[in-house]
Amino acid sequence: MAELFYDDDADLSIIQGRKVAVIGYGSQGHAHALSLRDSGVDVRVGLHEGSKSKAQAEEQGLRVLPVAEAAAEADVIMILVPDPIQARVYEESIKDNLKDGDAIFFGHGLNIRFGFIKPPAGVDVCMVAPKGPGHLVRRQYEEGRGVPCIAAVEQDATGKAFELTLSYAKGIGGTRAGVIKTTFTEETETDLFGEQAVLCGGTSALVKAGFETLVEAGYQPEIAYFECLHELKLIVDLMYEGGLEKMRWSVSETAEWGDYVSGPRIINDGTKAEMKKILGEIQDGTFANAWIAEYNAGLPKYNEYKKADENHLLETTGKKLRKLMSWVDEEA
Ligand code: NDP
Ligand code: MG
Ligand code: MG
Repeated sequence: MAELFYDDDADLSIIQGRKVAVIGYGSQGHAHALSLRDSGVDVRVGLHEGSKSKAQAEEQGLRVLPVAEAAAEADVIMILVPDPIQARVYEESIKDNLKDGDAIFFGHGLNIRFGFIKPPAGVDVCMVAPKGPGHLVRRQYEEGRGVPCIAAVEQDATGKAFELTLSYAKGIGGTRAGVIKTTFTEETETDLFGEQAVLCGGTSALVKAGFETLVEAGYQPEIAYFECLHELKLIVDLMYEGGLEKMRWSVSETAEWGDYVSGPRIINDGTKAEMKKILGEIQDGTFANAWIAEYNAGLPKYNEYKKADENHLLETTGKKLRKLMSWVDEEA
């Protein structure tokens, strides 16, 4: 079983005794910087020239510095810029500002796991990854609660890196909910696998294939949209609240029987074999290297895939139908 840590297991005074730089002020960055500050931690935000989020950080009372200056001032540096640019930001502005005994923190392990960032031996390398988007992390903190986090230490140069990691997690409210100990390898590989095989990739492909099957058989796209996409939320909400059991309790017996007999024909041994191949390509670095190469080439294939799905009948149909449903908020 996983090792869990709560408020009583973490000493906030450790992070309160350090100087923290949060690099980036996006989804995660704003939540970490504001909540650490409200936990009595000495925080500065590091942002690049021309940053859109700089004004917001300053309005919210934070001190904003160029990344290199923030890194030089701080002895705990949390990198919360987009994953594909972290290595460049590290090389240009952080690397030369690291001293022995400093700590470098991440919200996701990709750059460490696949060696795009190689911190020096005298520095602690830690991760605090909230299991939710930044605005939820911040809102929960403000309400006196927290979002569960996973935490890891890749390099324990000081011998005290995990205590520091738990202290940081406490500063953003994570230990109020519970912090699970993991490793950079486990976090990175499971995160990539989950989003590819199940959450984003698997689900989009399942919805599209179901929709296309109905439309190709002559059914109206509007009806196919409701059956294959819209209703998915109701099903996922039930699974989220009470697992497969609650979902199956709530749907009709007919739907439940169809689940048992047809589900395994859709996601079958062939699908699982492909999942194992995808996991293998994540583990051996094939995926990460290809993704960073694509990013550095200016995202040619990424933009092609994006465009193709923008014009898919599923999407154009959904745009029309969501206008009929005043309670569906496109902005949310
Ligand atoms: P965002 O895309 O929301 O934010 C990126 C921030 O980085 C922005 O403030 C942006 O500034 C800034 N930025 C961009 N380029 C630079 C640069 N060269 N130097 C300094 N700052 C720069 O990122 P996320 O919060 O989504 O992701 C950050 C990390 O957190 C990633 O490692 C991600 O995997 C991880 N994570 C994200 C989660 C999420 O829910 N989003 C959940 C858990 C982990 P501007 O826009 O002003 O240009
Ligand atoms: Mg992810
Ligand atoms: Mg039905």
